[in-house]
Amino acid sequence: MKYFIKTFGCSQNAADSERIKTIFGKRGIKESKTEQKADVIIINTCMIRESAENRIYGLINNLSKLKTTKKNLKIILTGCLVGMAYKDKTGKFLKRLRTKLSIVDEFMPIEEIGFDTAPQRSSADTALIPISSGCNNYCTYCVVPYTRGKEISRPYNEIIQECKDVKQKGYKNIVLIGQNVNSYGSDLILSNSAMKSNVKPVYVKHLGRYRIPTLFPHLLNEVAQMGFKKVEFISSNPWDFSDELIEVIYQNNNISRTIHLPVQSGDTNVLKRMNRWYTSDEYIELINKLKTHISNVKITTDIIVGFCGETEKEFQNTVELCKKVMFEKAYIAQYSMRPMTSATKKLKNTVSHSIKEKRWQILENLINKPYLDRLKNSVKK
Ligand code: SF4
Repeated sequence: MKYFIKTFGCSQNAADSERIKTIFGKRGIKESKTEQKADVIIINTCMIRESAENRIYGLINNLSKLKTTKKNLKIILTGCLVGMAYKDKTGKFLKRLRTKLSIVDEFMPIEEIGFDTAPQRSSADTALIPISSGCNNYCTYCVVPYTRGKEISRPYNEIIQECKDVKQKGYKNIVLIGQNVNSYGSDLILSNSAMKSNVKPVYVKHLGRYRIPTLFPHLLNEVAQMGFKKVEFISSNPWDFSDELIEVIYQNNNISRTIHLPVQSGDTNVLKRMNRWYTSDEYIELINKLKTHISNVKITTDIIVGFCGETEKEFQNTVELCKKVMFEKAYIAQYSMRPMTSATKKLKNTVSHSIKEKRWQILENLINKPYLDRLKNSVKK
């Protein structure tokens, strides 16, 4: 028996797939490099954007031809689509998936995998280490709190042990992964009365809410001190990027100087509609702090264009912010409505497809074209 695994989406999914491989390996099923030779096809899904979801439907449609010629072929779906299906208490989403994807034999919730399954690593140099999963932030456009559930931090000592193990096995680089990597440990603090009494919640002026300090700087420092060549972490949120964290990066030269810090929009009103915890000025202030303290720092980002009601003026504020920050690279998405999110329920997707396309192109030309030109030039040299 052989299995083939296709992974869509973020590094969290990539790390999950490494654990799924172990489970199938333990069942005596070997990995196949092609779909055609596999008896079981596992699809680890993403639904962060409509386009990502559509790619999965396209793949399954193609597999239906293979299934007609190979009657015993088993297709298993896991990841965010399945997470959404099981978390939707009405059962409608699961029903819709079952009807739409009738050739799928099993819908496997990712929670069944768990952190305690040792991964079958895809790279011999770089180890992906998940440190948390889920999210409590409920940005209004985002499905993650619905597909992955609430944020759960992995026990501190378990992460340290896994890092030590991979160091011993000769891995040179390490990537700490979480949907909100730098809010790691807030839940651990809140559930521990001794720790809780020692922390001071931080007031977020812009939204009139408090946030809890995190254990991430401490964890990152301890991992960096283990002596890896490079330590990366993904994906951070600006509101948990504390001075303490900047200090840890400054003190440890092996922590990557390319930092991914999603901005999503450069306009404070749009950020508010997105339920992001910072203003445009606060984001710029954070970037300036990073640039002042850490030499050679490069910032990459995520931006959504055409979010509900985004006016030309609001978009121009994003352009202005991009010019000020000078991002190294950006993942630019055209807003698409996602099921269950509050933007879908309460806001209107008013920006036309052609305007989204135009705004996307403007930012591509501003950020990613120069990035690709720099890459090409460095290859020529
Ligand atoms: S912080 Fe916002 S964008 Fe990031 S995973 Fe959570 S809800 Fe989604």
